[in-house]
Amino acid sequence: MKWPTIAVAAALLVPAIRAQPADIETLHVQGNVFALFGGGGNVTVQTGPEGVLLVDTGLADAAPKLMAAIRKLSPGAVRYVINTHVHADHTGGNAALVKMGATPEMPGPARVIAYLNVMDRMSTPAPGEPAVPAANWPNDTYSTPYKDLFFNGEAVFVTHIPNAHTDGDSIVFFRKSDVLAVGDLFMPDLYPFIDLAHGGSVNGLIAGLNKILEIAVPAKYQEGGTMIVPGHGRLCDEADVVEYRDMVTIVRDRVQDLIKQGKTLDQVKAAKPSRDYDTQYAAQGAFISADAFVESIYKSLKP
Ligand SMILES: [Zn+2]
Repeated sequence: MKWPTIAVAAALLVPAIRAQPADIETLHVQGNVFALFGGGGNVTVQTGPEGVLLVDTGLADAAPKLMAAIRKLSPGAVRYVINTHVHADHTGGNAALVKMGATPEMPGPARVIAYLNVMDRMSTPAPGEPAVPAANWPNDTYSTPYKDLFFNGEAVFVTHIPNAHTDGDSIVFFRKSDVLAVGDLFMPDLYPFIDLAHGGSVNGLIAGLNKILEIAVPAKYQEGGTMIVPGHGRLCDEADVVEYRDMVTIVRDRVQDLIKQGKTLDQVKAAKPSRDYDTQYAAQGAFISADAFVESIYKSLKP
């Protein structure tokens, strides 16, 4: 589907991702961490003797299939959910997975952690946005730069990334397993969706990508090492994020330059500042077109 503008993309986001959930693919990432693909946004699962921790919960419709996949990994209770941001393809299954994830020994309710702005946006939707059922809201918010917890013998760091994909982004680092779940700050082979209507910005996004690179450590020949679960798409390592950070930074600099020359939005788009990346990141049917990406940068930088 082609997205004419970022504003339209944001408005259409929810219906577009309501497509029938496909089958769930489960991948062992490393250590105690698994990733589930195909339920909307990617879902990261940490398991162990204390139960289950989820990063994001996919689409509401996908919850039964996601739960079946989680149960193949662990019979334990879902004790924690961490939402990387507010979008419904990452939070839609909150209530259902918490409910289905309870056990007689651990009836819950599980802690649903998110940055404070996620709660604010869910409880007070902008005009024209659908209301989010209260059962899907986080019940454990944070408003500090980071939050940490210890679960299944592992330190888990939740770090807030200000004004990047949205204004409520968190990345989650499993220190022992050496896995980072980063939500939609990073989507390999797709231009980023900078959700301006929900407080996103290109400079925040680049800062977030740099934060991921600060935490991740590659293994030999710059491959492997810390594994990165993106919000959508395949499992990645640091090298994939380096390439992505460079792309976003270069296109941002080109747009900034055109703005300095006094170009209008139409002139900036006509200059095609992302031209040499479009075949890789804006293939036919990509969620964010080259024009939408450039427009989001322009609007994000224009004073
Ligand atoms: Zn998103």
